[in-house]
Amino acid sequence: MSGQFAESSWVWKDGTFIPWADAQVHVLSLAVQFGSSIFEGMRCYATPAGPAIFRLDAHLRRLYDSCRVYRIDVPVTRTEFERACCETVVRNGLEDCYVRPMVLRGYGAAGMLPDASPIEVYVPAWQWGTYLGPEALTRGVDVCTATWHRPRPNTFPAMAKSAGHYNNAQLMKMEAAANGYVEAVALGPEGLVSEGSGQNIFLVRDGTLVTPAPDGTWLHGITRDAVLRIATDLDVPVREEGVPRESLYMADEAFLCGTASEVTPIRSVDRIPVGSGEVGPVTRRIQERFLATVRGEYEDRHGWLTPVAVGAGRSGA
Ligand code: PMP
Repeated sequence: MSGQFAESSWVWKDGTFIPWADAQVHVLSLAVQFGSSIFEGMRCYATPAGPAIFRLDAHLRRLYDSCRVYRIDVPVTRTEFERACCETVVRNGLEDCYVRPMVLRGYGAAGMLPDASPIEVYVPAWQWGTYLGPEALTRGVDVCTATWHRPRPNTFPAMAKSAGHYNNAQLMKMEAAANGYVEAVALGPEGLVSEGSGQNIFLVRDGTLVTPAPDGTWLHGITRDAVLRIATDLDVPVREEGVPRESLYMADEAFLCGTASEVTPIRSVDRIPVGSGEVGPVTRRIQERFLATVRGEYEDRHGWLTPVAVGAGRSGA
């Protein structure tokens, strides 16, 4: 995984562009002290019709939903936000890139009641290659089950994408790296499979896709939703259900999916090969259709792509 930023030039902040190096917050801002920051991660793809952001609407909807849970009034309209995301890509001259809208609580409040802190909105974007390594998409990755679990429902709101939650993800990911794995899959508090540190998970058994049913322990991924729709398009049956840990070892195929990871095959879990250890046919079909769609090489039948040139031209009403 590439761990450093390919810096771009401009960051959108509260309605204007500021230089990348100036996009800073005070050390005592609530975002730094307590993780009070809501964010999104979206990919923009260089399609034949120009750069286009994948599922901009869905990501911004989740951003606003996450803010609502944390009682944050976003000081920008959805239309302004869409435009800001597109303009950030255009202004930086980016094509294939990652866009990271952030709504955070800044400097002011000293305790748990955040009202004295201003809400600040940032949109950085930068070039970001394959998250799980150069061969992850073609050859698959080796994962472990994490000893750290996902939090119980009604502790942290797992459906909200908040920076503080990612301390749990870091623990998992660091443990995986320390033990020579690329990624970790967490179990939920009841011991059933939940999600990866930054991805949702699918298994394949006898040609059917199996994925954890919503249980309040994982983020409802937008890529997961895309995979479910692609499975329907390809007539692949799907079951959403409780997934015991041992299903990971009994699966014919398995893959992770997320904005950064796209559709990444899993070739082993805890050093036990998944199926034959090769990328399986169902994973391959779903991955191919996903990548062809996001890259604009296959018809955008679900209306998932927003060309940034069009989005940047929208009125800010
Ligand atoms: N779970 C977690 C914990 C994540 O951080 C992500 C990445 N945002 C996902 C799942 C996948 O979500 P998405 O497909 O919307 O990127």
